[in-house]
Amino acid sequence: MPRDPRHDILFKPVQIGPKTAKNRFYQVPHCNAMGYMKPQGDAAHRSMKAEGGWAVICTEACSIHPSAEAAPYAEKRLWDERDARDLALFAEASHSGGALAGIELAHWGLAFSNRSSRAIPLSPSPHVTHYNWDPVVARGMNKADIKEVRRWQADAAKRAVDIGFDIVYVYVAHGLSIAQHFLSPVVNRRTDEYGGSVENRARLIGEMLEDTKEAVGDRAAVAIRFAVEEVTGPTGITMSEEGQAAVEMFAELPDLWDVNVADWQWDSGTARFDQEGHQEQYVSWVKQKTSKPVVGVGRFTSPDTMVSQIERGILDFIGAARPSIADPFIPKKIDEGRSDDIRECIGCNICVASESMSGQFKCTQNPTAGEEFRRGWHSEEIEPKVSDNSVLVVGAGPAGLECARALGARGYSVHLVEAKDQCGGRVAFESTLPGLASYSRVADYRVHQIGKLKNVEIHTGTTLAAQDILDYGAEIVVLATGASWRRSGISHSNLTAIPNTERANVYTPDDFKNGITIKGPVVVFDDDHYYMGSVIAEKVRKEGHEVLFVTPLMEVARWTENTLEQDRITESLMSQGIEILTYKNIAAIEDGEIELACVYTDKRERHACGSIVLASSRTPDDELYQELAASPDRLDAAGIKLLSVIGDALSPSTVQAAVHAGHQFAREFDGPIPNEVPYKLERIDLSEALQ
Ligand code: ADP
Ligand code: SF4
Repeated sequence: MPRDPRHDILFKPVQIGPKTAKNRFYQVPHCNAMGYMKPQGDAAHRSMKAEGGWAVICTEACSIHPSAEAAPYAEKRLWDERDARDLALFAEASHSGGALAGIELAHWGLAFSNRSSRAIPLSPSPHVTHYNWDPVVARGMNKADIKEVRRWQADAAKRAVDIGFDIVYVYVAHGLSIAQHFLSPVVNRRTDEYGGSVENRARLIGEMLEDTKEAVGDRAAVAIRFAVEEVTGPTGITMSEEGQAAVEMFAELPDLWDVNVADWQWDSGTARFDQEGHQEQYVSWVKQKTSKPVVGVGRFTSPDTMVSQIERGILDFIGAARPSIADPFIPKKIDEGRSDDIRECIGCNICVASESMSGQFKCTQNPTAGEEFRRGWHSEEIEPKVSDNSVLVVGAGPAGLECARALGARGYSVHLVEAKDQCGGRVAFESTLPGLASYSRVADYRVHQIGKLKNVEIHTGTTLAAQDILDYGAEIVVLATGASWRRSGISHSNLTAIPNTERANVYTPDDFKNGITIKGPVVVFDDDHYYMGSVIAEKVRKEGHEVLFVTPLMEVARWTENTLEQDRITESLMSQGIEILTYKNIAAIEDGEIELACVYTDKRERHACGSIVLASSRTPDDELYQELAASPDRLDAAGIKLLSVIGDALSPSTVQAAVHAGHQFAREFDGPIPNEVPYKLERIDLSEALQ
């Protein structure tokens, strides 16, 4: 299909200092839990974006010196020639598709405590470090220290250009950079020419920009990533004071302004709290202050919104981190008039959680993210089928839908059978809950893609029993029948069933699927600790009930710390008038009352309650699988060569895990049996030690 002419402006080249970006799609710096540990994995991830048409692809923040390292995170570093070699892979990967390679050079200042190097963290003035309540005070820098930081930045900039980077950053964002710490009115309490007035506090930013420009000359462009606002009120950098002053002072100094808000929870808000384009309110004025190109983010997935940002003079480049992870081929799809094929980010921050937990990089919408190198998975391409076996997939939740879509793309003949009248499984329900509407994209994208495949049929409103499956005539049967919330309350804090949960006024989140009428006051007991307890609390509160949110842990929705939502969920519940009780477990459920027990002292307290909702844990709906797997003879007689169970029906987990399970089955079920290690490892090079 030809490109929609309304989107032409997105493909206009833009000059960034001495470099030309081929279009306006700009992958801003983002981490992916690979860092210096998995340089090949990172390079393969970025080369997918290069192939997908991005004009600029940037590294995550990359440490310039051991005096600031990010342990326990393996963030990239450019300390010596060996680091440079690893990073060269990144630049090559970006260039492979004609993109410019950007590097976000960072001195972390007091953001971390140097848990690995043991170096004393540096700060404009003595101040507690910002990471994880570490009992460490960073030391105030003297003038010689400031000179050293400037030298490290310049040295790293030279190295970066030598290995092929086209854009070199000065980092002043996310609360993670020394230059931002200098700008801060509370961290910087200096009385010399680097402290006091905004001009003085901004001095180091200007010096680092100048040093970097001098270091790279005309071999690379110099960009600044600048948080115009810290969203902390007068105790932080505000848009009206420091934000505006710094942009005005240095307006023409860098070759590009990459602007956002700090800290990360505000920059990468989930869809539960921030909508597409939400940063416009903070950055819309920047372009009026500079003639240099401006890039900004806002979880952009709609080409019309992107065009509007440019035509209204808000941005020159469409910056993206998460949308580029969920779909590395956004530019290409828009260019080819295939916007309807975009796999839109749902704003869930599972990708962020991979980084928070230092785990494997994961994305809910894109099961190939992080698997490009180690499993060799391509975002858009998949091996053709190797047999004419037909496949029956039972259950059209995230796992079944992705499995059917990917099998269909391979050319298999697939029937996807779903009991409900609608596809989506858990996301069909969850997307109706407060703040979770974007979860419907998981189903919408897949239903739409399946609609284009002649070899995949979807049959809704059909519940299959074991005999129906045996009679179906498919050679391969995949059960993706999902999971149910436990009524017993068994989960992290209750290892045996809570007594009395069979009463009529005790509910699970599943009961809300069919629109129940609940009686207040409502106690929501959250022993799941992800989002479900809090969204159910919000739902019943919106219906006008008094709500008591009870958790056995110290914090509301504790796992959502990983998705940057925990503070915002707590604030949201509190401001809606939901009462929160922490460190409490259920001791007894009685008529009109609940008895709670302190998890440490067993001290009891009673609360009136009309209903109780238990968000505890889920149990697999695998009866069909158990019945069929127990009769191999019947499977043989029916001509079923392979029976498998995937997704929540095997292991109830995140939507991301279900999508990945569906994709993995479709890729691997007919391939060679994997080696003991099922994917490629990146190993530490011991060649010198072994000589
Ligand atoms: P997952 O996250 O693993 O995809 P879900 O719970 O979201 O799991 O989806 C499972 C889907 O399977 C649900 O939509 C459910 O209606 C469907 N399902 C369960 N059992 C059957 C069955 N026997 N026949 C057809 N569909 C079924
Ligand atoms: Fe978007 Fe979620 Fe994927 Fe992150 S994990 S890119 S937020 S869909």
